[in-house]
Amino acid sequence: MSNETLKIPQATAKRLPLYYRFLKNLHSSGKQRVSSAELSEAVKVDSATIRRDFSYFGALGKKGYGYNVNYLLTFFRKTLDQDELTKVALIGVGNLGTAFLNYNFLKNNNTKIEIAFDVDASKVGTYIGDVMIYHMDDVEAKIVESGVQVAILTVPAPVAQNITDKLVRANVKGILNFTPARLNVPSSIRVHHIDLAVELQSLIYFLKHYSTEETEIE
Ligand code: ATP
Repeated sequence: MSNETLKIPQATAKRLPLYYRFLKNLHSSGKQRVSSAELSEAVKVDSATIRRDFSYFGALGKKGYGYNVNYLLTFFRKTLDQDELTKVALIGVGNLGTAFLNYNFLKNNNTKIEIAFDVDASKVGTYIGDVMIYHMDDVEAKIVESGVQVAILTVPAPVAQNITDKLVRANVKGILNFTPARLNVPSSIRVHHIDLAVELQSLIYFLKHYSTEETEIE
């Protein structure tokens, strides 16, 4: 993936999809340039951070002009592999997994859940939208066959590591882990961890203990 060739800081890389989505909207409304202040207001990232981020992309905003929307869009599209469809597998078709299968990721990204897996016999062999649910017994073979490189984990925590080991054997390169389990993977595999309960708790903690002025926006 292009992140390997392009050495930008991880925190910057994480903000790319946010910038990309906003710039796409600007572009479709016919806007050709945007100031860092406008961007800052829209994506809620402070403008100094935006200027620093954009300097990594070779996009130097001009005073009184701002940034060229077309230039940035072309850059983001290339960097985020938007021209290439990324196939994703979903493991665990419970409440959260079902919601992801029903969500149209193609709306904002060139990403599609192609295939899903579960152990529940009542789910195996059924479809959600156009995605077929296979049995976990077939996970390695099916993932290799379909060329999927990214997996979303929405299974109960106790089975997450075992499933991860299978995904690693099937050559999956990235895992988006929605379980509370901390996963052990070889260093060549990237895991992003999203624990919704922890995020919610942390938001509530910040609301109680800090004013928004004191809070650093990531
Ligand atoms: P539900 O209401 O359908 O049980 P849930 O999100 O509350 O959903 P969880 O217990 O978190 O339930 O399980 C999520 C999904 O993961 C379920 O569909 C379950 O069948 C599936 N699952 C459980 N164990 C495994 C496993 N080893 N491999 C793949 N999927 C699994």
